Amino acid sequence: MTAGLIGNARALAAVQRALGSPSPPHAWLFVGPEGVGKAALARWLAQAVNCAARSQQQGARSQEPCGECAQCDRIARGIHSDVMTVSIPVAEANEPQHKDISVDQVRDVERAVALAPFEGRTRVVIIDPADAMSTGAQNAFLKTLEEPPPNAMFVLIATQVDALLPTVRSRCALIEFGLVPTAEIGHALRQRGVEEERARLLARLSNGRPEKALALADDASRLEKRSEALEQARALAAMPMGDLMDLSERMAQQFRRDREAVLGRLDGWLAWWRDVLLVCASEVDSGDGLANIDMLEGLREDAGQYDRDDVVAFVRALRECRRRLEGNVQARIALDALLVRSPRSAAVMRSEK
Ligand SMILES: [Zn+2]
Repeated sequence: MTAGLIGNARALAAVQRALGSPSPPHAWLFVGPEGVGKAALARWLAQAVNCAARSQQQGARSQEPCGECAQCDRIARGIHSDVMTVSIPVAEANEPQHKDISVDQVRDVERAVALAPFEGRTRVVIIDPADAMSTGAQNAFLKTLEEPPPNAMFVLIATQVDALLPTVRSRCALIEFGLVPTAEIGHALRQRGVEEERARLLARLSNGRPEKALALADDASRLEKRSEALEQARALAAMPMGDLMDLSERMAQQFRRDREAVLGRLDGWLAWWRDVLLVCASEVDSGDGLANIDMLEGLREDAGQYDRDDVVAFVRALRECRRRLEGNVQARIALDALLVRSPRSAAVMRSEK
């Protein structure tokens, strides 16, 4: 029972080992790429230190939460009053986007952990993403880390460990996560009842991120969004410049309402054009390494139509655009700069002359 964790067995083993030691850490730092199960393991840890079945077998060597008692159940459903997750607040309609976790939020945490646990044995505070804590927030949090209240545990979840102050880092037990091999994700999906060929596709599409694979398996509409994004990725190359600029404006507006949708769409485009490059570079027959393994025909078509250097430039521009959007560069500017670089097919170039 490892709460949906796929892969990263070493991270799990390290947590179990530390948890079973005479003085388990009161603060943890889970570091690794997005979507590989860091939050799932944090939840598992919260269960392990609160599980009613585990407390009854004091001295038992197993660090496994039972997954079935009221404690485990309420934590899994996200309604346990002693387990809180702190993240970047969602902005109100008229407010600008929040960029970080603030000092005020850390003060709230301090107040919460000063109280004894309400229904469980240990208050667990999950800070996700911890690398979004402002410097002020980290400094405020440092005091709590230095003199941890009894019965409290902290799990910091981060992708960029460098964004954390060394003083914060050094007070946490570091657990490292990595991308998960495609075969392992495929196997786990099949075990969850996903049919063979679909499991293979979803594992490929997930790029080593089991959470993404599970989300795709759970929600058919996500696959539809993916085909829309792919169709658009291909259509870009044939769009007149005026249409590209209209698209940029629409996406910039959407970005203000729904960042994730726009970033997701860019990821879809990136996956497509990266695949086109792979097909250009090698006579890929088996589809090895491709994300869009089910669309080999279309990829071959596109690979034959575009100049390789143009595609390379566009793939770079896509990565750059994503970085700039995440870094809160004005969306319209970032998207314009991207779309003017969309590759032109030989046919379009002729018609534009
Ligand atoms: Zn339990």
